[in-house]
Amino acid sequence: MPSQPAPISESGTSGVPKERALKDRGNLFEIASKQFEKAFDAVDLDPDVREILRQPKNELIINFPVRLDDGRYHMLKGYRVQHNNLMGPFKGGLRYHHEANLDEMKALAAWMTYKCALHDIPFGGAKGGIKFNPREHSQDELQRITRRFTHALGSNIGPEWDIPAPDVGTNDRIMVWMMDTFMNVVGYLDKNAVRRVVTGKTIASGGSYGRQEATGMGLVHCISEWAHDENFSLDGCSFTVQGFGNVGSHCARLLAKKGAVMVGVGDWKGYIANPEGINPHKLGEWVNETGSVADYRAAKAISREQFFGLETDIFIPAALELEIGAAEAEALRCKLVAEGANGPTYPEADDIMAKRGIHVIPDILANSGGVVVSYYEWLQNKRSERWDHADVLQRLERRMRRTYAAVRQTASQRGFDWRTACYALGLERLQQCYIERGIFP
Ligand code: NAD
Repeated sequence: MPSQPAPISESGTSGVPKERALKDRGNLFEIASKQFEKAFDAVDLDPDVREILRQPKNELIINFPVRLDDGRYHMLKGYRVQHNNLMGPFKGGLRYHHEANLDEMKALAAWMTYKCALHDIPFGGAKGGIKFNPREHSQDELQRITRRFTHALGSNIGPEWDIPAPDVGTNDRIMVWMMDTFMNVVGYLDKNAVRRVVTGKTIASGGSYGRQEATGMGLVHCISEWAHDENFSLDGCSFTVQGFGNVGSHCARLLAKKGAVMVGVGDWKGYIANPEGINPHKLGEWVNETGSVADYRAAKAISREQFFGLETDIFIPAALELEIGAAEAEALRCKLVAEGANGPTYPEADDIMAKRGIHVIPDILANSGGVVVSYYEWLQNKRSERWDHADVLQRLERRMRRTYAAVRQTASQRGFDWRTACYALGLERLQQCYIERGIFP
């Protein structure tokens, strides 16, 4: 059992920041690199392989104009970082966020390399984004921004080269606009053969059943494995979620199906709590109507500080990176942190949680269900097949449980913490491949 920290006062004197602004967060790539170096040391990675993996292979910045609905032109900055493609085509999400920046993309791209290698999926790692707030734009503007950026990327993406997918601020419709633009510009001679240039598409346009809920579902498979190992019942336990978008909302619904009770949730606009439970289906309807969990009637508004101090069994960060610093790690009163978001935890917070006996299922394992089903979507497109829903979900479950078991075994046999165990499995696969292939020329 974790030790109980001091209760959180109404005025937020717990030391948990009211919000985490970009300037306060630090450089994500530098912070992520600390994690990578710790894992490189743990597996005694070859110095040449370290050098290769320390930096991404390609970093692309594109400034491009878009016509707004009122006729004005507006310049936007887009990124695509391709970290590594040793195991297969670059693969990674596309993010629309007003704080998107190159160092964030570099960290997120590297995490994708390690996530795919951990699962032994034949993809490398990439990440992209455009620096703007999608909430401030109409659907027509979003479509023009997406198409113009895809056009500017040109053959820097491709079905056997680099395959984007949805991430924060993007969705299946945006993926379909990307696919359609790519088909008409780069792949116009054989449109169907390039359908798999993006994954996470709508079903009608070549997406896979199960992709929408895949990341949340993969997370729940990990949580179920943890509960099984700990002899802990999910039925009747409590959980809190930060971020109620694709990952957070699906995870909440699936946990509720197992009898777990959501007692707190928050997003970009605010945090709410109800010790009696918040129905994630009804909350989802509210979020669809209003764009946020804030002001939901069947719960009371709380501050970010209070949210982090809520007593709960499981905490699921499913918003942005670097949300759990030292103060949050001290404030948490939970047994398990299951990282739905990429990179939510600072290295010092990891140490504090370990000391306090809080278990952590690390991001590259916990949120990997999305890339697993993206891989299935890519395979279905390549083979002109459509797998039924149950088939996709069964394959996802089998793969998540298999990888979870491999991490469990690596951690216990080699005395690694779970994050290091996840990296170790991925890094050793990458290293083996470099040793066999050598560096050209
Ligand atoms: P999303 O855009 O659907 O949802 C993001 C959620 O985070 C929203 O509820 C938003 O309001 C909230 N949020 C944004 N800023 C916040 C802030 N400052 N404080 C609190 N909440 C805030 O995005 P998503 O696809 O659900 O992705 C969430 C996380 O999961 C990201 O870290 C993403 O990289 C990661 N992830 C997503 C997938 C996927 O398949 N979508 C796969 C793997 C990892």
